Amino acid sequence: MEIGRFAPSPSGRMHLGNVFSALLAWLSVRSAGGRMVLRIEDLDPDRCRPEYAVQLKRDLEWLGLFWDEEQTPQSQRTAAYAEAFAKLDAYPCYCSRSELHAASAPHAADGTFVYAGTCRNLTEAERAAKTRRPAWRVRVPDEEISFLDGLQGEVRENLARACGDFILRRSDGVYAYQLAVVVDDAAAGVTQVVRGYDLLSSTPRQLWLQTQLGLPHPQYYHVPLLCAPDGRRLSKRERDLDLGALREVMTAEALLGRLAHLAGLLDRPEPVTAAELSAWFDWNRVFTKNISINSVSFH
Ligand code: GLU
Repeated sequence: MEIGRFAPSPSGRMHLGNVFSALLAWLSVRSAGGRMVLRIEDLDPDRCRPEYAVQLKRDLEWLGLFWDEEQTPQSQRTAAYAEAFAKLDAYPCYCSRSELHAASAPHAADGTFVYAGTCRNLTEAERAAKTRRPAWRVRVPDEEISFLDGLQGEVRENLARACGDFILRRSDGVYAYQLAVVVDDAAAGVTQVVRGYDLLSSTPRQLWLQTQLGLPHPQYYHVPLLCAPDGRRLSKRERDLDLGALREVMTAEALLGRLAHLAGLLDRPEPVTAAELSAWFDWNRVFTKNISINSVSFH
């Protein structure tokens, strides 16, 4: 049985890009007769709020994207993350943000930095002399990870060159998204992960963590991002495209029809229900490249 998931972060109102990914995730699993799990990814206490989680659920229900099961929110799963963390080859890193920037090589593809390994081989005495509270990084091998994305095709990445030893636990004690997502997907028995293209670069890290922890690998599908005409990714800052604004000017069926058309699933942007779409869904029809939309004409 296929098991898919919605994994929203309750850091604001759902916007059009989130709805687009959620719709494709739901269609993929429903068209296969599978089950959908909802998981609230509220790891970051500074950015997440319970009222946003409530709103997210109401918005998914308004869209007709129902789920079968709700997983425990990430903020309550610390013990499970600690157990996985203990199995990994992690070491404390005392670098400040500015030290990291000074020592790291920028990674051309997405502007993130490759960790230079500064704290990888500190001696016990060197560690004892540090006063800063450390983050914890995992030692990654210099070898290539490859996988077949259901939409984007073959992806290859060498973790040592793409990101270096990455963070498993922040200096404030919060476990990192990369670790939490792997533990939670496995706990829910997730077989397919459908999410935005922006997370494609996280997938080699997650596949590698799954291998280290003896967990199964789900099938991944990274769906196009919705972009403004200037190529910028639409984000929660575009208030006119969040569900608060959109729900005032269109029905759920009209919105789903527009998104299904943008995805390549409908020839015309006609109103449609999610259940109707699931009868015709086919990954072969879904566009692979990012999609430009004009927020003015979308309304
Ligand atoms: N919580 C993440 C987000 O809202 C999604 C993580 C995932 O799908 O793996 O961007």
